[in-house]
This record gives sequence, C-alpha cells and structure tokens, in this order.
Amino acid sequence: MTNTEETIVALATPSGTGAIGVIRLSGPDAIIIANSVFKGKDLTKQPSHTIHFGTIVDDDTILDEVLVSLFVGPKSYTRENVVEISCHGSAYIIESIIKLLIKKGARLAKAGEFTLRAFLNGQMDLSQAEAVADLIASNSKASQQIALQQLRGGFSNQLQELREQLVQFASLIELELDFAEEDVEFANRDQLKKLIHDIIKVIAALIQSFELGNAIKQGVNTVIAGRPNAGKSTLLNALLNEERAIVSHIPGTTRDTIEEVLNINGINFRLIDTAGIREAKDAIEKIGVERTMEKIAQSALVIYVYDAAVLTDEQLNSDLAKLQREDVTILTVANKTDLLLPEKIEALNQANIVTISAREKTAIEELRSKIYHSAIKEQLDGNETLVTNIRHLDALQKTESALANVLRGIDAVTSDFLSMDIKQALYYLGEITGAVTTDDLLDNIFSKFCIGK
Ligand code: GDP
Repeated sequence: MTNTEETIVALATPSGTGAIGVIRLSGPDAIIIANSVFKGKDLTKQPSHTIHFGTIVDDDTILDEVLVSLFVGPKSYTRENVVEISCHGSAYIIESIIKLLIKKGARLAKAGEFTLRAFLNGQMDLSQAEAVADLIASNSKASQQIALQQLRGGFSNQLQELREQLVQFASLIELELDFAEEDVEFANRDQLKKLIHDIIKVIAALIQSFELGNAIKQGVNTVIAGRPNAGKSTLLNALLNEERAIVSHIPGTTRDTIEEVLNINGINFRLIDTAGIREAKDAIEKIGVERTMEKIAQSALVIYVYDAAVLTDEQLNSDLAKLQREDVTILTVANKTDLLLPEKIEALNQANIVTISAREKTAIEELRSKIYHSAIKEQLDGNETLVTNIRHLDALQKTESALANVLRGIDAVTSDFLSMDIKQALYYLGEITGAVTTDDLLDNIFSKFCIGK
C-alpha cells in the first residue's frame, strides 16, 4: 500500500496559479533528495524545524528561488524526514520542480499517502486521520469544529478506554478456558454485565449522535414545497436575501429545481425550490413535480408554504397528508399574512403554524430560527462527541449487536462462546480507531484524500 522505504513527493497546495506553491517530500531520503537540487546551505547538516533560502537548480539552470523547511523525523507530520519547498506558484515551476525531484529519486505520492504514513507510523489513529480529511472538506463553522474535535482525539480516547476494559475481561475469560476442567470463574459475571451495559450506553449515545453529526457535516436536505403561487420563490429569496429564483405571477413557473444553501448558526440547509406539489398539467412541469416527490423522500425537512389568504383548511390538510413521510419533519408556513386579519394570524400561531409574509419580509428571522430548531433539537455547547462518519456508525452498530450477544450469553453459554462474542465486539470497536485494519479498509479511506495530504 505504501512502501515507507520510498520517498514521496507531491504538491501540498491547490494546483493552478497562486502566490506560492508548497511541494512536500516525505521519506528516508527526503532531505538528501532536496539537498541534491538545492543551492544554498547544505540541508543535510541543518537542524530540524529550520527554514532556508536558496535556489532550486536543474544542473546549471535555476528553476526558482525558494524557501525550504526542514522537519527531521520523527518530529514531523508523517514522523519521517519531511521537506517542504515553498516556491513561486506557477504551474510550470511547480511541475518542473516535482519532475526534477522524481528524477533525483522521489516518487509521486498517492492520494492521502502522507496521512496514511502518519497513521502507520503511529502519529494518529484512524479516526483522527479521517478527521484530517473532514477538516479539509469542512465548509461551515460547525463542521470545522467537530472535525477539529475528532482530530484532537476526543472520540477515539473514549472508545480506546472502553476497548481496554473489555480486553481485560476477554483475557480473564481466555484464562478460564485454560482451566476448563476445573470449572472456575476468573471473570466476575456481574462485573462483566455492568461493563457491557456501560459500554452499550456509550455506544448507543454515539450512534444516536450520528443524525445530528451528519446534519452538521453534510447539511440538512430541505425541500420548500407548496402549491403554485404560494410564495415559495419569494420566500426563498427572502431567506437567501437575494434575487436568485425568478418570481413570477404565472402559476408553476418555478419549473426546475434550484439548489441553494442556507446557513443558519453554522448549519447548512440545502434548499431545493420546487415546482409545487399539485398535479402537473403539462409535461415540463410533470418532471418538476416528480422530482419534488423524489427530493422529499430524500430530505430531512420539508418547509411547506401555503397562501393563507386563499387555501381552505381542507386543502391544507390534504396537502399535509400527501407530504407525510417517516423521518421527515414538516414545517408548516402560512404565507401572505399581510393579507390576513390579525385574529386569523393569531389563530394560526395558536395551531403552531409559522406565519410570515415573504413579500414584506415579516417574521423571516423567526422562521430561520424554527428551521434551525427543527433540525437541531438539542442545545449544542461544542463539547459533545458527535459521530459524523458513516464507517464509524456502521462499526458502532456492529459493536452494539455483538455486545448484545455477549449480554445474552453471559449466563447461558460456556466461556469459549462468550470469549468469541467479546472478540467480535473488540474487532468492530478496533475498526474505528484503526487498532484492527485491513489493506482494503485503509485503501478505501485514504484513496478519498487529495494528493499531497
Ligand atoms: P411560487 O409559485 O410558490 O414560487 O410563488 P411566487 O413566489 O412566485 O409568488 C407568487 C405571487 O405571490 C407573486 O406575485 C408574489 O409577489 C406573491 N407573494 C409572495 N409572497 C407574498 C406575500 O407575503 N404577500 C403577498 N401579498 N403576496 C405575496
């Protein structure tokens, strides 16, 4: 997967033209290779964590003036010798320098190979390595915060401790197997039960946190639905505060779906404006309506907007009934309050319906807050351990069911079966932190990284 005898090289900054480009080398020969193309001080004789000015030369041709940063292993990101060359950000210069370094013995790094080496060399565990990718991909304050928390190891420390306690029990039960004839019990079954219960509690909370964690990381898929002319486009504009969707008087003009992202308190709501939920009359609109129903099936939140000045209660109820889905929250929004009597508005509010005027931009802030709380029910204080990774969720669910087996078997089965069930649970727990890995698993994770990371 990665031969750590080889020295790897890649551009660490985005490709294309920039003020500077950073080329990174890692491996046993990183410093020697860099030194062979560097004109300035002898890099092999410089201490770690120093920066040196000089030129990169290909025989007699000067390629660029650069700054070279030295990190002597193990005090580096990968725990290997690492050199970072900051050159001018021309695509031509960068390519020439990388080609030159390859000529001198380095090899182009594969996606995620620097971080893979950091993991293999014990710099971080697997969930922390994954957090590096999440951090790079983070696009809101909330997603950046949870990635950073995971990178610092909060999540893995918790699991590591649990795993160690379970390992102790596993070894006591193994010991019982050695004395099978004597019928002794080294592992106190009541203590084991208590430990398993404790672990299941933690695991269940982590599993539960995924819904929120995922909402923060991926954003909340949100559909704005409603009949033509209800004011969906006007509302979308009011929420986004700009004229993106085209507002028109002709019913059904929002024919295509338009995706926009609404950020509320750091959470991204991926808004999809729609062609409405009434039966389509012509072909083009039909596509839009079908797509709307499809999108609703994939969303977590539906903002249902209706024209409170014209829609009857029966029509409203029939629309809401059509939208009902398992796992989808529906936020009912009565629009055009500027056309309503105050008593009517009051009655709607009593019925827990959000009342707004999209055109007059009345109560848009209240609506934003309702949208936020429909997805984020708990109070966030930034210290929660949140599971955001589907791979972790999968391993946690498998751990949970393995632990349930242990619990069922404690009084019923012999030590050898119990030992097997515990090992199964340990295996899945280990998959999260990387205590247990396979090449396929690592390949799968690191191939999704960008080159140079
Ligand atoms: P859509 O078909 O649901 O996207 O509806 P539009 O946003 O295109 O709005 C339809 C019509 O209703 C337009 O003429 C809007 O100006 C009007 N409209 C939207 N919101 C309001 C509102 O709060 N009050 C009033 N009086 N008219 C509104």
